[in-house]
Amino acid sequence: MPRTPIVAGNWKMNTTADSAIELARALREALAEADDASGGIEKVVCPPFVFLGAVAKACEGSPVKVGAQNMHWEEKGAFTGEVSAAMLAGLAEYVIIGHSERRQYFCETDETVSKKLRAAVAAGLKPIVCVGETGAQRQAGETKAVLRRQVRGAFEGQPAVPPETTVVAYEPVWAIGTGVAATPSDAQEAIAFIRGELADIVGAEAASQVRILYGGSVTPDNIADFVAQPDVDGGLVGGASLVAASFVEMVRKVAAIGR
Ligand code: PEP
Repeated sequence: MPRTPIVAGNWKMNTTADSAIELARALREALAEADDASGGIEKVVCPPFVFLGAVAKACEGSPVKVGAQNMHWEEKGAFTGEVSAAMLAGLAEYVIIGHSERRQYFCETDETVSKKLRAAVAAGLKPIVCVGETGAQRQAGETKAVLRRQVRGAFEGQPAVPPETTVVAYEPVWAIGTGVAATPSDAQEAIAFIRGELADIVGAEAASQVRILYGGSVTPDNIADFVAQPDVDGGLVGGASLVAASFVEMVRKVAAIGR
């Protein structure tokens, strides 16, 4: 079965109440046209928590799906400032887990990523699990060891992770927000490696159904080169997803590949 490509926008801590709705409406309008060629591509936007409800409403009935950028693994309780998977469930279809900025600035570990993955799946959310090496780790030749540790840390011991609704994003930390993307062949190599690790954990058939995205300075100019690679199933995009025209262009470029 071919894997449906995804273009997912991570808005991070950007937009305002007004600009978030404006961006969502612009995407909805551009991507909902009857003759739009991007029908076979999944389009996901991940606004800040506080705008999830408004963006979900703005996207209702459109092909634009909504994701959250984070979640807590507990269902409820004394966790000030946190948001549970159950709270997200009516608002978001996807949830980003273990983004490198969460690992770097908010002490996320492979253990918390694993707990979040378990809770997300149990709540019916579709996870986008982020993995990727830092520049220092890459220079030290540790890329594969880091990816192995992060993939195994997230997926080993999970009771049931439905492969067709599970997404992994390979995001080399040195490429995020820097304007220096990985080469398509490096992304392919890393993503094929991740798929191999997943195959060891969940079996080859299930691993072949998991969508694995590349993220890190993806733009309308380079996304097609990534998605043309056999194992790269789309992009997780930060900066370039904040401009409606560029998000739409990325979707169309991926659609044009015809996977
Ligand atoms: C990201 O937010 O995950 C990301 C890859 O950012 P950017 O596209 O801006 O590098």
